[in-house]
Amino acid sequence: MNILQECQGASRIAVTGHVRPDGDCVGSCLALFQYLQKMMPQARVQVYLEQPADIFSGIRGYDQIDSACEDTDPYDVFFVLDSVPERMMEPAKKIYDRAKKTVNIDHHISNEGAGDLSWVVPEASSTAELIYELIDKSAMDADIAMAIYIGIIHDTGVFQYSNTSPRTMEIGAQLIGYGFDFPRLILETFYQRTYVQSQVLGRVLLESIRFMDGSCIVSCLDRKTMDFYNVNHKDLDGIVNHLRNIKGIHCAVFMYQTDVLEYKVSLRSDEWVDVSKVAAFFGGGGHMRAAGCTMRGTFHDCVNNLSLHIKEEMEKQE
Ligand code: 5GP
Ligand code: MN
Repeated sequence: MNILQECQGASRIAVTGHVRPDGDCVGSCLALFQYLQKMMPQARVQVYLEQPADIFSGIRGYDQIDSACEDTDPYDVFFVLDSVPERMMEPAKKIYDRAKKTVNIDHHISNEGAGDLSWVVPEASSTAELIYELIDKSAMDADIAMAIYIGIIHDTGVFQYSNTSPRTMEIGAQLIGYGFDFPRLILETFYQRTYVQSQVLGRVLLESIRFMDGSCIVSCLDRKTMDFYNVNHKDLDGIVNHLRNIKGIHCAVFMYQTDVLEYKVSLRSDEWVDVSKVAAFFGGGGHMRAAGCTMRGTFHDCVNNLSLHIKEEMEKQE
């Protein structure tokens, strides 16, 4: 795919990602946004995302993110990154449908490809890595490099998870050569938690329950507890990794309440369970070792249903 060729002659270009944007989603969208602004100065380029967490506010273009999406004129090219189009924020869907050309770039194995043109590479660590591959390197600068770097570190757990390839490390090496303060970025966007975020993490660990002979673990935050600590979903990123890191656990489940009898579910696993299959069964998706979905029912219904499918995936490995 050649991004600039696809945008040739375009006067209106939009970039978006998925709901509740994470580091890779924000990083890849803002990297492409900056690149298009730089290379296509005659075009109006817009980035549509739900308001990302404050930790990403240092990325150039963050203050130009449009979360309302009230523009109704059709776009010439509409990019959807790190997501299937169904998972983009509601207000953007209306104008997506009217775009002259739609382009989907993603690394989720559950994405079968969508739009007029799609590039889905499940082997890539992150969508940000794919954006790096697509960008004309003569246009690269420290701000674009930083946005891509944030995407990669968030989806690889700072080059730790198995999705990190030799190519990911090569790209990481190239990126830090642009001279942004990467140790500070890793600390401030990935490891650091506020006091309440740490308290909530403690509570999640304290109230976790193991199941299936101790091979799986689940913990759930209900609305009341989230209100008590005054936290929202942006404060909960990364919590599931702490459950997954517990010795002997093959599959970790973290849930938080989004509505009456509705939960957002995050799944993490080791090589024993393909959680993308579990999530896909419940209408979600993701990767083999990190996936998610939204489920309806009581906490116990959700866990019972999930455990049936986790067990099925585990049995395939035996
Ligand atoms: P997380 O648990 O961090 O929200 O998400 C883990 C992975 O699964 C991410 O790559 C994320 O994009 C994907 N994912 C999470 N929730 C959903 C969902 O509801 N639908 C789809 N298709 N993917 C999801
Ligand atoms: Mn991603």
